[in-house]
Amino acid sequence: MRFCRSATVLCLLLPWLPGRAAAQGDIATTYRAVADSLIRGATADSSAYRRLGRLVDTFGHRLSGSASLEAAIDWVLDAMKADGLENVRGEPVMVPHWVRGAESAELVKPRRARLAMLGLGGSVGTPKGGLTASVLVVGSLEELARRAAEAKGRIVLLDVPFTEYTATRHVRSDGPSAAARAGAVACLIRSVATLSIRNPHTGATLYDSSAARIPAAALSVEDAMLLHRLQDRGEPVVVTLRMEARTLPDAPSRNVVAELIGRERPDEVVVLGGHIDSWDVGQGAMDDGGGSVAAWEAVRLLKRLGLRPRRTVRVVLWTNEENGGRGADAYRNAHAAELDRHVLAMESDNGVFNPRGYVLAGSDSVAAVVRQVAMLMQPIGAARLQRVEGSPAADTEPLAAAGVPTMELDVDGSRYFWYHHSDGDMLDKLDPGELARCVAAMAVMAYVMADLPS
Ligand SMILES: [Zn+2]
Repeated sequence: MRFCRSATVLCLLLPWLPGRAAAQGDIATTYRAVADSLIRGATADSSAYRRLGRLVDTFGHRLSGSASLEAAIDWVLDAMKADGLENVRGEPVMVPHWVRGAESAELVKPRRARLAMLGLGGSVGTPKGGLTASVLVVGSLEELARRAAEAKGRIVLLDVPFTEYTATRHVRSDGPSAAARAGAVACLIRSVATLSIRNPHTGATLYDSSAARIPAAALSVEDAMLLHRLQDRGEPVVVTLRMEARTLPDAPSRNVVAELIGRERPDEVVVLGGHIDSWDVGQGAMDDGGGSVAAWEAVRLLKRLGLRPRRTVRVVLWTNEENGGRGADAYRNAHAAELDRHVLAMESDNGVFNPRGYVLAGSDSVAAVVRQVAMLMQPIGAARLQRVEGSPAADTEPLAAAGVPTMELDVDGSRYFWYHHSDGDMLDKLDPGELARCVAAMAVMAYVMADLPS
């Protein structure tokens, strides 16, 4: 949006004008050498992976409200200052403070067995000592609506297989209130996952204010299927659920912000970042320690190579993406007066797997420029540009709503939902070379977008 505000028509026409080849040639010619040096610099060693290892092995998970999140933020701020980044600061944000406590699910009938479960973020707990009830298994929210009369006083299990994240997440976020409206005493869901070794996956649930708040948890895919098979055979299925989950008063946290101040137009900004918080399982290495470190390392690489673009490059590690989005809102509010000078806001939050390019929400004129910048990533096969409406990433949503072009790193997502929001999300699932290529992709896009003359 920043690039062609006064010449929108020209930019929209650009693809059909003879001058297009020259314009493409300009970006390719001007920035080829610097892009290659950024790719070489990012992929020369495993420094990003080592830094991510320090972050996640030292501090572990980083759930909003936790001491580990704030200790991790302190460490990042100190390390950014030691890197020589500028205007390093934590911008205050009050975040929800949900705690899991002890929890378990046990099959009582037709036999006793432990079930692999994780409470859903935001859930209420069960009464002390737990609750025991017969289970109604349904395969969809539509089936629950049809069989609502059977749900009263029971635990509803939504055994809905993964299709696509947004559609399947809907079951996790809205299923518990749907079950409560049917009179259920608790709600279980099948984990939102594309592969399972009996590991449950958590994630946020959202209570509808019109429904009772009932305890909500995810079972592993295998346990959900087991209960479904038992019901299909006509066996009575009874489960005891125990959860100490509760929500405490909001807690203080911070968005991490650091800059490389622009040499000509310091008040114009390119934002790149990830979210520093995570769920309270595993290490949040993939979601989203990796994205946070990729953005941070990209800016550190610019600094290390002595590259100072015309505009300011600002790394933002948003807090509370997972269960509130308060960091994203706080950034938008704190920077409201300068949002019209935000050239681009880019997040990496799909795991730092092999990068394939970029996903952009922005005008045709911005896309025409970004497409040329993306072509600089051809040497590592990350030149693809996809376009979406709205915002491609969660933390950039408030910025997209304010008219800022927003972007997400496009990566090979084939393994993401194997580990997402589970105990499996640890450093070993990531590859140093893939992470390094993500650093390169973020560094090249951020640098060129911040340095273009107009
Ligand atoms: Zn995430």
